[in-house]
Amino acid sequence: MNNSGGDVRDVVIVGSGPAGLTAAIYAARANLRPLVIEGGAPNLPGGQLMITSDVENFPGFAEGILGPELMEQMRNQAARVGAEFLTENVSDVDFSRRPFHLKTDGEREFDANTVIITTGASAKWLGLPSETALYGKGVSACATCDGFFFRGREVVVVGGGDTALEEANYLARMASKVTVVHRRDTLRASQIMQKRAFDNPKIEFAWNSVIKEIKDVGVGKVTGVVLHDLKTDETRLLPTDGVFIAIGHSPNTKLFAGQLQMDENGYIITTPGRPLTSVPGVFAAGDVQDTLYKQAVTAAGSGCMAAMEAERYLEELEDEH
Ligand code: NDP
Repeated sequence: MNNSGGDVRDVVIVGSGPAGLTAAIYAARANLRPLVIEGGAPNLPGGQLMITSDVENFPGFAEGILGPELMEQMRNQAARVGAEFLTENVSDVDFSRRPFHLKTDGEREFDANTVIITTGASAKWLGLPSETALYGKGVSACATCDGFFFRGREVVVVGGGDTALEEANYLARMASKVTVVHRRDTLRASQIMQKRAFDNPKIEFAWNSVIKEIKDVGVGKVTGVVLHDLKTDETRLLPTDGVFIAIGHSPNTKLFAGQLQMDENGYIITTPGRPLTSVPGVFAAGDVQDTLYKQAVTAAGSGCMAAMEAERYLEELEDEH
């Protein structure tokens, strides 16, 4: 591995979801020897698809594919065409100097002519003390990881988007009953996901409701949720064995605070239609800069764009010298 003071890497990719790995495939095939700093514990290389079950909307898989399998294929493809991988987390970046400088939590340092940021987004939490206390004791944000534990039992899913309904549908395969708790009376999820959930006899809805508290911290496991009906102002206890939080995501951009322009929610601002950030030579692709589509296939597409932009930028850099 190149440490600071040694060779300057042409392309360093931070993150290893569909955006990062597609950028790696394109950069490697352009002979740019990309280094993918793919993330290590507590992060999961591969990103959000590693905690997704069936992926039915990624083109090329007529029968669908499991999220982790799709990511393994992408990683193997990137490695086969020459991408290098480092299973560590980037802990510090300096985009104010050229070449750019990156440090990892494994005490490695790299200089890079271009950086492609594909750090994605992470699940949001409700922020209740009981949610934190019962995390891993019946509270989860990943049905495919933890659904198995709720075979024949009752669970609650919080949220009204595609993630919530996907989790609900998945959990309904094993749970005896799934109650989707949503703060409004209409869902944000796509029509096809809504129809699937409405048609599933195991799935019920608690409309206009929010969770005030998850019971029972004293017992050390989930026994129910205290629901507040926002329309009637009534409060009731809904007994349940598990609570799955599926209320969206926030971008993983803390590392870049003060270095790149971001919007009020922390998403990296890119030039419309292009993966250019506020710093020339630093590119962003995938969910870390996408407030609109957030799909694996759009992330992959923007990763391709970022690699092509990096290649063009490097050519210009060479012309200058
Ligand atoms: P979304 O932002 O689409 O939905 C979040 C949901 O959680 C909303 O219904 C929102 O309510 C609710 N919510 C947010 N904050 C809170 C809170 N504090 N308390 C209670 N409820 C809250 O996120 P998703 O993760 O569902 O989806 C993200 C993107 O990924 C979307 O573009 C989606 O289409 C896509 N996706 C696609 C899938 C597929 O095609 N198979 C699968 C999963 C995701 P409200 O509606 O009132 O704002």
